[in-house]
Amino acid sequence: MFLKDFSYGGKNLYETSEGYEKLLILYFTMHLLLEVVYVYAGCMPMIYANIGSVIFYFALFFVNKTDHKKLVAWCIMWEIFLHAIVATVFMGYGCGFFFWIIALFSMIFVPFYIPTDTPFLKGCALVYEITNVLAFVLLKLFSDYYLLPSKYVASTGCATLLYILNAFIAISIVVGHIIISSHSMDSYNAQLKKMNETDYLTGLYNRKYMIGLFNKELDRMDAGESGDISIAILDIDFFKKINDTYGHNAGDEILIDLANIFRFEGEGKYTVARWGGEEFAILGSYELSYDAFCEELKNLNKKIASTGFIADNNELTVTVSIGAAHYEPGMTIVDIVKRADDRLYEAKETGRNKVITSSENLLD
Ligand code: GH3
Ligand code: MG
Ligand code: MG
Repeated sequence: MFLKDFSYGGKNLYETSEGYEKLLILYFTMHLLLEVVYVYAGCMPMIYANIGSVIFYFALFFVNKTDHKKLVAWCIMWEIFLHAIVATVFMGYGCGFFFWIIALFSMIFVPFYIPTDTPFLKGCALVYEITNVLAFVLLKLFSDYYLLPSKYVASTGCATLLYILNAFIAISIVVGHIIISSHSMDSYNAQLKKMNETDYLTGLYNRKYMIGLFNKELDRMDAGESGDISIAILDIDFFKKINDTYGHNAGDEILIDLANIFRFEGEGKYTVARWGGEEFAILGSYELSYDAFCEELKNLNKKIASTGFIADNNELTVTVSIGAAHYEPGMTIVDIVKRADDRLYEAKETGRNKVITSSENLLD
């Protein structure tokens, strides 16, 4: 729950000031606790350095209010890094503050805390990583060659406790970070999938997705399953005139209202996709016979014609023409759509606001 809270429904932390605010409160509190540790260990340099960190986070809280999110992010990253180094230098290598540098590594590689979407920011991240690696190695070398000051080194008991605590915190951050980033990645993937399958304006499936559905239906028929493949193409009558009279935005509103009617009327019976412009493709449910599908189309046609649409504060009537066709052995999807399209053309030619479902009356 806590981790989900941090990912804001798939948003990266840096996309909301709110996200950083939580982080700042967390780090501020951690530094208050660290102050107790440093006082207990009697490490004067760290007592002062940590007061500096506390004040720094307090100030960052206000910077965050000004929406300088990237600045806040980088300040946090550098503060943790510098604090980890100073704490390792003064408290001793054995306290394990260097583990924090490992945690910082995971924080920057997945663009969750820090945006790395421009070459400049990528460069900043690279410089930061190189500095992290160098510091990690140098701290170890300095410690092995007794080049770190020994005056304030924590007692063995205190150091062991801190070592375990710091290792635990660092590992938790790495694990937590992997969970958060995979959660936000899942959410991004779902968004991308939806964008790839749906029409932005109406929220209906798009043409590409509908063609996929058509092909699945054909595969089902090829596999010898029962049922029908019923397809219709619907086109709004005189839509250009509506646009010209009431404006393009009003036209868009009508497309959205129509999509809602399709969803409501078609639930469980047929699926509608935006085929292009003001044309829609309709795929009947395979449990529905072609005759039943045609009845549904007639009902839909009547429903639309009897609905009062609002365009630019005017109520108006919108009508549609529909051509429908269904699968016959040997037909491809292209053939069925072509036949439905021909019948739509026929509906337009013979007065509009109608549904043509068979070729009986087709014009030559
Ligand atoms: P018909 O009855 O013969 O179909 O006449 P029509 O005016 O509907 O047909 P036409 O193909 O001449 O015009 C279709 C119009 O649909 C033209 C275009 O501006 C409009 N259109 C296509 N996509 C959109 C859209 O996303 N929003 C709006 N507002 N209009 C759109
Ligand atoms: Mg058209
Ligand atoms: Mg039209």
